[in-house]
Amino acid sequence: MKNISISSGSALNPDVVRLAELIKKEYDNKPLCYVHSYGCAQNVSDGQKIMGILSECGYGFTDDVREAKLIVLNTCSVRENAEDRVFGNIGELKRLKENDPKTLIVVCGCMTQQKHIADRIRESYHQVDIVFGTYGASKLPQMIEQVLTSKKRVFSLEDTSDIMSEELKQLRQDTVKASIPIMYGCNNFCSYCIVPYVRGRERSREIEPIYEEAKALVEQGCKEITLLGQNVNSYSFGFVKLLERINSIDGDFRIRFVSSHPKDASYELIDAILLLPKVAKHLHLPVQSGCDEILSAMNRRYKTSDYLDIVNYARSKNADFSFSTDIIVGFPGETYEQFCKTKDFLRQVKFDNVFSYVYSKRSGTKAAELEDNISEKQKGLWLRELILEQREVATSWLSRYVGKTLRVLADADGRTGEGYLAGKSDENIIVEFRGDSNLKGQFVPVKITKAMNWALLGEIDK
Ligand code: SF4
Repeated sequence: MKNISISSGSALNPDVVRLAELIKKEYDNKPLCYVHSYGCAQNVSDGQKIMGILSECGYGFTDDVREAKLIVLNTCSVRENAEDRVFGNIGELKRLKENDPKTLIVVCGCMTQQKHIADRIRESYHQVDIVFGTYGASKLPQMIEQVLTSKKRVFSLEDTSDIMSEELKQLRQDTVKASIPIMYGCNNFCSYCIVPYVRGRERSREIEPIYEEAKALVEQGCKEITLLGQNVNSYSFGFVKLLERINSIDGDFRIRFVSSHPKDASYELIDAILLLPKVAKHLHLPVQSGCDEILSAMNRRYKTSDYLDIVNYARSKNADFSFSTDIIVGFPGETYEQFCKTKDFLRQVKFDNVFSYVYSKRSGTKAAELEDNISEKQKGLWLRELILEQREVATSWLSRYVGKTLRVLADADGRTGEGYLAGKSDENIIVEFRGDSNLKGQFVPVKITKAMNWALLGEIDK
C-alpha cells in the first residue's frame, strides 16, 4: 500500500508514544492495520486521520484484511443498506478473530455514534474490541493500549466535538487528488438526514490552516484539492474568501468543493467560480426533489424557483455552466405526480450528472415519523424511470462540448477499450481518450468527439 503523509498539525502526544512502545513489545514485526471507510468524502477524510495517528503509533497498512492485526471499520449511516453491509462485514470478521485472538477490531464513525447501534454491537458482536463514534479518533491510541493491557472491550461514545480529532493529520494514498475538511457538522436538519445528529452542529476551520495544508499538498504535486463540508456555503469565515486564498497558491492545480446547499448558494459564489482560474467550472448543488411540496416536507428551505434562479444566473454568465445534483426518490407521502415534477425539473435544468437514490428511513430523523407509504418495488421503478430520463437529457446536453477542448486530469484506465485513459474535466465530466498511461496524474487537453450518456469521448488536442 502506497502512502503519502501530509501534515495538518498533530504533534506526537504521550498516548501515541506509549502505544508505540507497547506495540514494539507486543508484536515481533511492525503490525499491519486495515482501515476501511464507508460512505462520503467526509468519512474517507476521517479514515485518513485515523490512519495518520495509527502510523505515528508504529502501524503499517495493508489492503488485505487477513494480514491485519488491527481492523478499523469507519462506518456511515446515511443509508440503511450501508448499515446492513457493515453488520455483515463485522459478522465475517468473527472467524479472523477466532483464528488469531490478538487481532483487534475497531468500529467507529456515524453508525456507532448512535446509541442503539453501539448497544447492538456490545450485545451481539463480541468480536469487536473498540467502539467510538464520530468524535474521539485522537483517543484511539489510548483505547488500543487499554484493550492490549486489560484485555477488556472499550466503548467510548462522546457526544461533543473534539478539536484534537478534527486537527489530526491525514494519511493520504492518492498523490494526485486530495480532500481537505474545512468544516464539520451541519445545522440544517433536513428532515430525512441523520448528519446533524451524528456529526453535531457546524464548526469551521480557520482560513490559514486550510491554506497551509493546501499549499503543502500542491508543493508535493497534488493536482486537485477538494474542500469538504456538509454545507460549504455557510463556512463561517467566508467561503468565497477561502476560495480566493486557495486560488492564490502558485502551481498547476484545481479546486473543487462539496457540498453546497441551494438555500445558501449565491450569485457571489457563481461569480467566484467563473472568475477564479483555479476553481473548477462546475457546481454540485443537491436539489433532492423538483416538487415544492416535497422540498417543504424535507425541510430544505428553498423552492424550485430559487434553485432555477441560481441556474439562470450562472447560465446567463456562461451558457455551458455545468451543474450536477442529488435526488431522493420516494420520500414518504410522495405521489407519482410529485415525482414527475422532479423528472420535469431535470429537463428544465439540464444537469450534466445526477446522483439519485431511493429514500432510506433513518431512525431519529423527523421523516422517520412519517408513514413510508411507497413500496420498495415502487421506489425502485421510479428510480429507474428517473435514471432513464437523465440519460436522455445528458446525451443531448453533453453534446454541447463536441468540438471543444477540455482540460482533463487523467487518473485511471478508461472503460471504452484498451489504450484508453479516463479523467474528469474542469466541469466534472468523465472524459475518455486514447493515451499513454504515463499521462496519469497530468492535465491533458482533450478535444471532444462524442457525447455518451455517462461520459465524453475525445482525442488529445496536440
Ligand atoms: S444540509 Fe441537510 S442533507 Fe446536507 S448534511 Fe445537512 S441536514 Fe443533511
